[in-house]
Amino acid sequence: MAKRPKPVHQMTVAQFEAMFPHEEACKAYLVKRRWPEGVVCPRCGAVKVFPVGTMPYKWQCYECAPNSGYRFSHTAGTIFENTNKPLRDWFRVTHLMLTSKKGISALQIQRVVGFGSYGTAHSMCHKIRAALIEPEIKLGGIVEVDETFVGDKAKNRHWRKRDGKPGPTASGKMIVAGAVRRKGNVIARVIANVKQATLEAFVNEAVSEKVSLLCTDQWVGYKHLSAKFPHGTVDHAKHQYVVGAVHTQTIEGFWSIFKRGIVGSFHKVSRKYMPLYVAEFQFRYNNRFNEDIFETAIEGC
Ligand SMILES: [Zn+2]
Repeated sequence: MAKRPKPVHQMTVAQFEAMFPHEEACKAYLVKRRWPEGVVCPRCGAVKVFPVGTMPYKWQCYECAPNSGYRFSHTAGTIFENTNKPLRDWFRVTHLMLTSKKGISALQIQRVVGFGSYGTAHSMCHKIRAALIEPEIKLGGIVEVDETFVGDKAKNRHWRKRDGKPGPTASGKMIVAGAVRRKGNVIARVIANVKQATLEAFVNEAVSEKVSLLCTDQWVGYKHLSAKFPHGTVDHAKHQYVVGAVHTQTIEGFWSIFKRGIVGSFHKVSRKYMPLYVAEFQFRYNNRFNEDIFETAIEGC
């Protein structure tokens, strides 16, 4: 089996080709990442598994199936299982998604990789997005919280601040709430409205009680956070953007990448799939300093 290669933050196409010249290399890579200490039964976790002599990348476990033996392959329990696409296509699609800062449409994937159908590219992309969802740890330090609107009238980002009401969301707009630790991770979620209870629930889920400073704008929905957190606000309506350490420019930066991606690469994202796109942008952002982002992504598959 191949030696563990040196990590590269983002592979170039040439590096990808050199690393994965054929299907065999992809299989070996997957096995090494899934089971760095040796192959383990994906069903019961037994370490005592037996290679099926005549069939490479097939093993048998007798711990969970003492009589017949449970037979599994390198893709068992991964998103690659039971698909008719080679691993090399999956890796290629994953690589394209990770290297596109603003995302890449399924149509573009279809063209570049050369899939016969749009549906294939579309479904692969969504499976990979779901695999990119990582366990989240509550954010500490200095944290900024804000929300953004996406949808038909995405330009009217601060519409709710004009009329001062947590207005209706039936207009086709979707709302995403985000919390980011400065120089750290982001946690973003699709939320139903911008009412106080909704925003508070999000903050309680995403932000540690030990946060040293929580920055928001002056939206009334954030007002009550002051009771629980060290809370600083800036008043955008009064053109106030930075007050000492208090600002929301980090989360605004994340929204800017996210929205340019949603508007520029994906054009229209349905309510049903929006959480998956949010997960994709969150993963890229949170792994921006990861020395081997591709490896981390494949490990989650
Ligand atoms: Zn087993």
